[in-house]
Amino acid sequence: MFTTHPRTVEHAVARLNRGWYAAGTDIRSMKDYNGPDPIRRPVGYLTTVLLAQDCIRPDCERGSILASGEDCTLCGARGAEAAAEKAKAQWEAEAEEKRAARQAEALAKEAAEQAEREAAAAERAAAERAAADAEETARLRARMAAEFAALDEAAAIPAPTPSEDTAPG
Ligand SMILES: [Zn+2]
Repeated sequence: MFTTHPRTVEHAVARLNRGWYAAGTDIRSMKDYNGPDPIRRPVGYLTTVLLAQDCIRPDCERGSILASGEDCTLCGARGAEAAAEKAKAQWEAEAEEKRAARQAEALAKEAAEQAEREAAAAERAAAERAAADAEETARLRARMAAEFAALDEAAAIPAPTPSEDTAPG
């Protein structure tokens, strides 16, 4: 039976989980299951799963040497697992990188739009100031023209006669 020292209950559970759920055994052993590879004797199947030794090294448990915890060099199961983990980590890192790039792009776009809006507002304000200046200039010109016209009118009044003007005191 499965009591080979130093295997533990955890090892047994890991084996059962892998052999049972990973293979869809829980579904395949149901009474009304009609698909391929039905399991009619779940206990017998479980025993097989429990006792199955993938590696030719008897002290290898899923790619780890039980006593030392080192990776088994014979079956490479650990290596395959590590490669899968590495590939997953790489994929996640790439996904994160893409996400960060998308975020940076969105921020840059937002900043550019903001700058564009501010530039447009500054342009509008400058145009409004220029228009107000022009209006003020025109108003001043009109006032000065009116004042000059008044001065011209005043100058048009005939001067007093020279005799009066030059009369000795
Ligand atoms: Zn092995």
